[in-house]
This record gives sequence, structure tokens and C-alpha cells, in this order.
Amino acid sequence: MKITLLGTGSPLPDPNRAGPSTLVSSGAHNVVVDCGRACVMRLTAAGVFPPFVNLVLLTHLHSDHICDLNDLVTTRWITTPAAMAAPLKIVGPVGTRRVVTGMLEMLALDEQYRLAHHEDLRTAGGMKIDVVELHAGDVHEHGDMTIGAFRTDHRPVEPTLGYRITHDGKVAALAGDTVPCDELYDMCRHADVYVQTVLRDDLVKGLASALPANAARLTDILDYHSTVQQAGRTASRSGVKHLVLTHYVPAMQAGTEDEWRSLAAEYFAGPITLGPDLTSVEV
Ligand SMILES: [Zn+2]
Ligand SMILES: [Zn+2]
Repeated sequence: MKITLLGTGSPLPDPNRAGPSTLVSSGAHNVVVDCGRACVMRLTAAGVFPPFVNLVLLTHLHSDHICDLNDLVTTRWITTPAAMAAPLKIVGPVGTRRVVTGMLEMLALDEQYRLAHHEDLRTAGGMKIDVVELHAGDVHEHGDMTIGAFRTDHRPVEPTLGYRITHDGKVAALAGDTVPCDELYDMCRHADVYVQTVLRDDLVKGLASALPANAARLTDILDYHSTVQQAGRTASRSGVKHLVLTHYVPAMQAGTEDEWRSLAAEYFAGPITLGPDLTSVEV
């Protein structure tokens, strides 16, 4: 099983970091977890073209985690040969159907133009999406892959989910934005790899004092993300084998990787991976 950080950024724009999105590749499966800014560009850079993505998992419906879902949907549709056209399955918390319905309405004219122009697209049918809304505690079977959905705590954003993916004897636990909570510990229990979106509270507080006009909004985000230290603590408490950090708030500056790593290493003795977009880990 290979985990590739397609995008390690956050809502704060950064020229070098795409928005949050992670690729889980195992056997014939290519699963995209969240679809932030430029996820299709990074997916292509990772060597996986959109026709080979068969499942999207959404942790929650904040814009930074879904803003390029429409690009993945359209690009996959128009680049998939008619003979291999199959629905894209989009799995997420309650609310996902509403987002996808609205997105398909946004794309309706584009779909109409392309269907009018390409006979083979008409043969294959329009954009085909299967939406599956999961609740915490649900277990979803995707072929020979098992996906457990766990409640996470990103309030006031509700519901939000983390996913425990089991395939070929390996377990990947992927949390979106969340503070530590019992369900997160359960999701991560003895996982081979745990991917957590993180925030540096010291740097965000520094930004808030440097940008007084935005201070209130920056301070608000402190209470619903895991800090780097909390991610380390969750990893150690749950006995995970490998910790991967992503969604750096604020963007991790080149040369500061060891500083970020050491904050998590205060709490977790195992391997810790972080870095630029396209950093990957094999378990
Ligand atoms: Zn969020
Ligand atoms: Zn986020």
C-alpha cells in the first residue's frame, strides 16, 4: 500500500502546495481522499491518470477539501475510453449528495456541450457518479477493500469522517481536520500508517499578531485542528506504526521540516513523514 500526499496545503494559498488531497494506492485501487486545489495536476504528477481513479473519499465538505472535485469528475469523464467507462464512486459524510448534486448542476452545460460534440461519449453515457453517504460506524466494502467510517471532531463542522482503509493485510487511517477524540484513537488503533492534517498553533498565533485585521479569523481556527504535537500524541496512544503529517497550517517553509518533525517526535517515537507535495510512504 502506498500513500502519496498529493496536496499538503490548506485554505491559505501557497504557490508550492496544492490543497489537501491524499492518494492511497493498493493493488488495482487508486483512492483519492479529499480533492483540494490542483489535485488533478498532482495526481498526474504521481503517475495516476484520472481514468484510473475508482473511488473518492471525502472527510468533510469544507471548500479546501472539495474545491477541485469537479475537475476530477470532468477530467476523468472526458479522458476515459468508452470501453472502460464506469461510475466514479464518491463517498462522504451526510451532505455529500447535496454537494455532488449542486456540482453536477454547475457542470450540466459542459456535459451537454461534450455530449453534443462526441458520439462516443454519448455511447458511454454522461458523467456517472455513485454517491454513498456514510455514517460513523459504517463499514463500506469497495471490491476487496474495506473502509471503516469513524466520527471525527471538527465542530462546528458536522458530520465529519475519518477512514480506516484495510487492503491486502495493510491498514491506513486517514483523518481530515479534527481534534483528538476517542473515535479517532479507535480509527488509528495499530494502523500501519496514520495520516493527519495539522496546524502549528505557535505560528498561527504569530500570524494573528502580525495581521491584526485577520486576527480573529486566524484565532478561530486554533480550536478545531490537531496540532503537530497532538498528532504525535494520537499516533503514540493508538500504537500506529508510521505517522504522516499533511495540510500544514500555515504552509511549512522549506528548511523547517525538522522543526515540525521534532514537535511530533516529542510524543511519538516511530517514523514521521512530512514534506513537499508528492511525498510518499510505502507500508
Ligand atoms: Zn476543515
Ligand atoms: Zn482543511
